Amino acid sequence: MKDNTLLKAAAEIGFDYYTILDVKTVHLMPEVRKMCQANTCGMYNKNWACPPGCGTLEECTERISKFKTGIIVQSVGKVEDSFDIDSMLEIEKLHKKRFADLLDLLKPKYKDILPLGAGACTICKKCTYPDKPCRFPGKAISSMESYGILVSQICQDNGISYYYGKNTISYTGCFLLLPYQADEMKA
Ligand code: SF4
Repeated sequence: MKDNTLLKAAAEIGFDYYTILDVKTVHLMPEVRKMCQANTCGMYNKNWACPPGCGTLEECTERISKFKTGIIVQSVGKVEDSFDIDSMLEIEKLHKKRFADLLDLLKPKYKDILPLGAGACTICKKCTYPDKPCRFPGKAISSMESYGILVSQICQDNGISYYYGKNTISYTGCFLLLPYQADEMKA
């Protein structure tokens, strides 16, 4: 897909903000992994898509190395205050729906895609981690943070805001994309 078509797809799906992701700005940082280990979200060591279940930073680096381009997508909404959990959950749900819709749209157009979302994988009501293998390894979605990406930094490096002001909440995700080569395209 050309960049303009990709951005148009994100707009049509309803994302509030989006931009092309320069893969050279993707840096996987041990400091971000340390933030995961502090476990403020309560998901560290609880989900196959979160650390340590999603692999070491070296493994994540290897996984992302083949991708040539990408897109950053955001959903931003209003909250009454920092205790307005209902609005936060509603915006998060909307973001996950948009994210899944864009993934479905992109799948047939790219040779490979690595979606990195916001928060832990919530496909199953209860993750099988660590007792049994992931039920849907091809569908589980890790967060940008779980891969060691500092979201505020990657947003800044790609010219998109991360913070939209008081009484707002934003959810950010990205898709790393491997386009087909011209000789691999279907006739
Ligand atoms: S797909 Fe299910 S088992 Fe796999 S990481 Fe997500 S929640 Fe866990």
